[in-house]
Amino acid sequence: MELLCLDLEGVLIPEIWINFAERTGIEELRATTRDIPDYDELMRMRLGLLDQHGYGLPDIQAVIDTLEPLDGARAFVDWAREHFQLIILSDTFYEFALPLMRKLGNPTLFCHRLEVDDNGRITDYVLRQQDPKRASVKALHSLNYRVIAAGDSYNDTTMLSEAEQGILFHAPDNVIAEFPQFPAVHSYEDLKKEIVKASERDIPLS
Ligand SMILES: [Mg+2]
Repeated sequence: MELLCLDLEGVLIPEIWINFAERTGIEELRATTRDIPDYDELMRMRLGLLDQHGYGLPDIQAVIDTLEPLDGARAFVDWAREHFQLIILSDTFYEFALPLMRKLGNPTLFCHRLEVDDNGRITDYVLRQQDPKRASVKALHSLNYRVIAAGDSYNDTTMLSEAEQGILFHAPDNVIAEFPQFPAVHSYEDLKKEIVKASERDIPLS
């Protein structure tokens, strides 16, 4: 049995924090793990900024709801689900991703969650586990699935290494250079071709 695991942000949808920063004008929210490598510190800063600017979860969801999946993402997901069991492995939070998941036809999503009080204020976040993408692929292997995985960034590379075939999609040049063992593609058509190549089955491209 084969299973396809895909990263979410940068692969199927735009980067949520960067877009939220653009829509709200809160420049500091553009920071990523490249600027603040400690994820906990980065999240504390983000939650602090949301508080400071008076944004609760409903406001954030309203902004996220105006975002659209990347061009061609929905058709690609439909193709993927017709030929594979598809699981999205993401470091986002359910509460943020749900409006966009709806636009993708609600594929299965493994990610993290937020703690929110009765007024909609985000009080904390809960990571599902450490190194969640690699751990998920390992768990799927224990269920006797063969895994093909695609992602765009550093936080995907353990997942790509753990899978039978990892593929870089929309990855920046430095990631492509650092991980030459993974094929790197930049369009959904080319991603389909790499997935078909990696599959042990005869899968049509349409
Ligand atoms: Mg990503």
